[in-house]
Amino acid sequence: MEASLTGKKLLMQLANLKSPEVEALSRDTPVVVPIAALEQHGLHLPLFTDSLLLGEIVRRADARLANLAVFAPLMWLGNSDHHLDFSGTLSAPPRTYLDLLSGLAENLVFHGFKRLIFLNGHGGNDVPGRQAVFEVRQRHRDRADLLLLLATYWNLADPTSLPQLGLRQSQLLHACEWETSMILRLAPDLVGEIRSLDPVAPGNAFEPASRAWITKDRSALGHIGDPREATAEKGEGLFQAYADGVVGLVERVIAWNGKDWEG
Ligand SMILES: [Zn+2]
Repeated sequence: MEASLTGKKLLMQLANLKSPEVEALSRDTPVVVPIAALEQHGLHLPLFTDSLLLGEIVRRADARLANLAVFAPLMWLGNSDHHLDFSGTLSAPPRTYLDLLSGLAENLVFHGFKRLIFLNGHGGNDVPGRQAVFEVRQRHRDRADLLLLLATYWNLADPTSLPQLGLRQSQLLHACEWETSMILRLAPDLVGEIRSLDPVAPGNAFEPASRAWITKDRSALGHIGDPREATAEKGEGLFQAYADGVVGLVERVIAWNGKDWEG
């Protein structure tokens, strides 16, 4: 365990624990595995955007939860095949990624942990992540004490309910107003010129059908949304809302009675 910067709270980072310390933990302790990506984020944001954002949200949530949950190191390699036409993107193909996540979940189940949360910060991880926890559940169908979750951080809070933030978009998109705002708050030196970037609408003419896509289908420059509207102040509000959302989810997992579908 490692003391936080304040020296007051004990944060439980799996990477810093010694094996006997893990052995001594209650197996009802939730284990949070942050999963993100390294992929193009337009002309103006760094490749590591999703990992930087999720890392900051996790840092804030971890500081508040202290020793109530174990946080695994953030896994930066995600499923980003749809962005591969843009230089620098690295990707685990979907089936590889699915197997990687399910293998990781199996490790934690093998060690006796029962409450697992893949905390996701990248859209391309959502489908394989859901499938991974679904498949692990099927393999352990004799168990009633497993809680296997995949949660994408931007679904854990609704910042549009906070009018004081002045958000112009109605949802998080890609290298957009919201993501750019959070990077402006976190690492402004990494943000390039945004005022000249034309907005890219997120629409899908065939909704509610789910249309297969690669990023080039939708955006020549790589962003979707309106980065021109980004400010560091909006970024701070978004970080607070999403950290609240993560803390709320982990608290619900802690409160689970350990056996029932409800409760
Ligand atoms: Zn992103």
